[in-house]
Amino acid sequence: MVNHIPADLMASRIINAAGTLTRLSGARVSTAVAAAMSQAAQSSFDMWALQAAASVRIAQATGAEAGLVTTGASAGLTLAAAAAIAGFDVARMQALPFTGDVPNEILVPRTHRNGYDRAIAVAGAKLIDVGTADRQTDAGLRGLEAWEIETAISPKTVAILGNASGATEQDLPLLAEIAVRHHLPLIVDAAAQLPPISNLRAPLAVGASLVVYSGGKAIGGPQASGILAGRRDLIASAALQMLDMDVRPTAFVAPTAFFGNGQPSALPRHGIGRGFKASKEAIVGLMVALTEFIERDHGAWHAATHARLQRLQEQLASLSGISTEIIAGRREGALPRLAIDIKLAKRAEEVCRRLTERRPSVRLGEGQIEKGILIVDLLATDEIDDEQLGCALRDVFNALPSS
Ligand SMILES: *Cc1c(COP(=O)(O)O)cnc(C)c1O
Repeated sequence: MVNHIPADLMASRIINAAGTLTRLSGARVSTAVAAAMSQAAQSSFDMWALQAAASVRIAQATGAEAGLVTTGASAGLTLAAAAAIAGFDVARMQALPFTGDVPNEILVPRTHRNGYDRAIAVAGAKLIDVGTADRQTDAGLRGLEAWEIETAISPKTVAILGNASGATEQDLPLLAEIAVRHHLPLIVDAAAQLPPISNLRAPLAVGASLVVYSGGKAIGGPQASGILAGRRDLIASAALQMLDMDVRPTAFVAPTAFFGNGQPSALPRHGIGRGFKASKEAIVGLMVALTEFIERDHGAWHAATHARLQRLQEQLASLSGISTEIIAGRREGALPRLAIDIKLAKRAEEVCRRLTERRPSVRLGEGQIEKGILIVDLLATDEIDDEQLGCALRDVFNALPSS
């Protein structure tokens, strides 16, 4: 293979068996996606028209009215909040992230809160926690109840936020029902909830108005890409707040994908999302990846992943002091993973340190390291590296001082 990457940069390459984590560079794209990105990089586009074409594809894939390619799920959340606050009011768009007396509250069940909801606040929204975490803290049996959300709704409320993880998705129908009753948009974070492929449609089908996905996770798109999909008017507002608006208003033709046959009555200047510039490479690459993701045989993908994990398990079988087990993915329908049980957190940390120091550096999932368990997640790996991964693990375990 010809080396296009300078050696000093290539020195940071890793074998990433930890999953599509952002700090480990997310997904690796297929050859077809890379070729499409390369061709896009050498072409010019009208970015409104390119986003409008992507909108049609996103709509087909998700069941949404419209969609926008963003620079990630996180950017999608910020744009969703900006759309919920500003709608088509250009003065409100122009003021963000400052809202003054303009309504800006977004309700979120306490149990759905996570480190990524900061992206909502970036737009100028204020998150209002509702409900308790009784079940999660083992303090009681009652989960989220309608009255807890409804009594928190006020004239300052602009949206409801929910999370579509395996642990929280059961609340989404209730959130949707209340959102409809109060004419509020429901924003759903489904960033990492693929596969199963059914989750491309499930959040909107249960009543979300907007949903965000990461492009650089299981979809296998460019690392810094994502999808915002949902109600056409909200997507149009988000587009107005992300795309370059240094346009001559009289010459601007609003794409029907976002505006139907209407035209925005006034155009904002550069919006809150102007810094989240989705590139032509990202838009083209993500759309090709999305098609591949939809058309691939998910059963075969699951089986192939299982078989690769089994081979790795065999490579590690003769090692003493560890045990391995193929475990389910993080949610129903997700790809299986391999748990390597090292028994002691300190030893697991030492294994990680030694794997990190190798060239190429090898990374494993550390989500259960306190229990002395390391996780092999193959989503961001190339099968070509499997042998090298197994050898690296064998080397490190063999050289470990016996405890
Ligand atoms: C990964 C993730 C995000 C952020 O996605 P990006 O595409 O990296 O911006 C947001 N929310 C959740 C729950 C995630 O897992």
